[in-house]
Amino acid sequence: MPQPDSAPFPERHYAPLEEEAAAPVRQEASSVEAPAMAEIFGPGGLLEKAMPQGYEHRPAQLEMAELVHSAFTAHQHAIVEAGTGTGKTLAYLVPALMSGRRVVISTATKSLQEQLYQKDVPFLQKHFAPELKVAVMKGRSNFLCKQKLHQMADQPMLKGLEEMDAYRQIRDWAQVTETGDRAELNFLADDSDLWGRLDARRDTCTGQKCPDFQQCFLTAMHQRAREADLIIVNHHLFFADLALKQDDFGSILPEYSAVVFDEAHEIEDVASDYFGRQISNFRFEELARDVDHALRLSKLGSAALLRRTQRIRERARAFFESFPPREGRFPFSRGERESFLEQHREFYDALVAALKSLETELAAVPQKPEELIRLARRSFELRQELAFLFESNERNFVYWYERRSKGVFLAATPIDVSQILRERLFEAFDTVILTSATLTVGGRFEFMRHRLGLDHAKERALPPEFDYAAQALFYLPRAMPDVRDAAFPAKAANEIVALLERSRGRAFCLFTSYAQMNDVYERVRSRVAFPLLLQGTAPRSALLERFRTTPHAVLFATSSFWQGVDVPGEQLSCVIVDRLPFAVPSDPIVAARVNSLKEDGRDAFSEYQVPQAVLALKQGFGRLIRAKTDRGILALLDTRIERMRYGKIFMESLPKYGMARDLADVAGFLDKEASN
Ligand code: SF4
Repeated sequence: MPQPDSAPFPERHYAPLEEEAAAPVRQEASSVEAPAMAEIFGPGGLLEKAMPQGYEHRPAQLEMAELVHSAFTAHQHAIVEAGTGTGKTLAYLVPALMSGRRVVISTATKSLQEQLYQKDVPFLQKHFAPELKVAVMKGRSNFLCKQKLHQMADQPMLKGLEEMDAYRQIRDWAQVTETGDRAELNFLADDSDLWGRLDARRDTCTGQKCPDFQQCFLTAMHQRAREADLIIVNHHLFFADLALKQDDFGSILPEYSAVVFDEAHEIEDVASDYFGRQISNFRFEELARDVDHALRLSKLGSAALLRRTQRIRERARAFFESFPPREGRFPFSRGERESFLEQHREFYDALVAALKSLETELAAVPQKPEELIRLARRSFELRQELAFLFESNERNFVYWYERRSKGVFLAATPIDVSQILRERLFEAFDTVILTSATLTVGGRFEFMRHRLGLDHAKERALPPEFDYAAQALFYLPRAMPDVRDAAFPAKAANEIVALLERSRGRAFCLFTSYAQMNDVYERVRSRVAFPLLLQGTAPRSALLERFRTTPHAVLFATSSFWQGVDVPGEQLSCVIVDRLPFAVPSDPIVAARVNSLKEDGRDAFSEYQVPQAVLALKQGFGRLIRAKTDRGILALLDTRIERMRYGKIFMESLPKYGMARDLADVAGFLDKEASN
């Protein structure tokens, strides 16, 4: 178990970097002062000794480590903006492990979790803390369910040779893997249907009643977490846990006393998802599939029961098909829901009745396995969700639906999560550290603190580690029509062609919507000779890999490539942004947040829309310079940044880049790069 909060620097956490450095820190924890951050991060400090060639003292990293350390010591929150290259991971990990407390580290994605676990943790263990215990926790669907694997061996339900081969590989891997984490299975496609039938989702798990419970990979994961000093999670798991709190087996983090959020700019969105409610047509199809499967395995599948699941499929299909066919996300206010029900009441009632009769039928099965009891509960929960989404009208929620590809999603999302986070996060834990490269607007944390309900915190915006003025040139064309002008797309395409010729491809073209991306892509594609990649034509990771490995490639993409993308080096030498990334005002969540601020008498544009767009632009531009040796062009084709009053706040929030108004300057900058 972790040390009490007051432990100054528990010896078990710390090992000297080198033998000669051992004496001062090997003494009893009670009789020795923990090394100051300067002794670790400062010039000639322990980190430099650990990596004689590979470590460079960075004043901003030391400053961050000192701030985080003092927050841990004083049991306070801290919010720190630290740009790329600061070395922020070690600047929070070292104070976290020195705190002697069990700390949860929450990152934005599973791949960032892997990076921490495979790169930073071994470093800490090797040079600092050989006994440091670290656990990685992910959502249940990342893990193999041994029960399902055994059941599939007894009753193979495999489709084709490819699936049989994949099954055999998974079965062999299951014998040797310690974690059961699918991240170890390189051959498995992201959307593998087979994995969907083998994963350890809560829906299909019988928990302690499962004969494999003791050997279950989830049991082992929870065991590791209970013994760990640091627990690495992603924001989704963290907020799923915070929202569920005391749920049943398998979804709970063990007790912890502090949290560090890396990429903290994302937590409002993730928290909004988990403190909201959502259902989709897929949930009903999955329920019917899982009931059929369980009935077949238990040989309890009476004709009456199988008819019930078929009825759920048919009625769910009819119900979800009654939503308008246009794709996109739309508001679903109380009035709209009432008139929807007026028109389609029979489909709604029929679906609810089908769920109820499944529950009744399952309840009547004598000596049923635990799995059927849980399936009946899932059906009941779906009815509850439906009732909430159609019959409730919570003031702090915005109701909406979305049609996307084969899915229809109905949701209620909190308009403002600040009060929820204030109560459940910032008041429940005395130390929460938030860090990211994009937290300030105009040098201030007000916007982020207000959105998140963070009332008291130490705060610091660290100076950039890179020489942006020398490394990046910010190009703003002199004569562009307004982005709302009909002539804009053609002019934007001309600028992009001219820029790509000068950068010889090697560029990201980032758009704020699919429609704009496709339009400009069509205008550009026949005019340049570089390999063009378009978002939506392959999975995100495959596109990125192709971009990294294809000389002179150009990627056309939208919001999902504005952040979390790292392409250091010459391969990415130009980032072109077509317009200031204001969130789409007709999006129901954005519209509800804007209205709510207006109702409170606030200026939603300057207090919400502008700051949100500033942070998005900082993220997008942040793709370019990832290392001290990176150089390149940042181009913005939206001249509102200089024409509108609010443009000033964008300019004040960006690093001090070199400025250019003419393509000749762009060419000159890039020529210098080529001759270096
Ligand atoms: S405990 Fe649940 S997840 Fe684990 S093997 Fe059993 S059924 Fe699968």
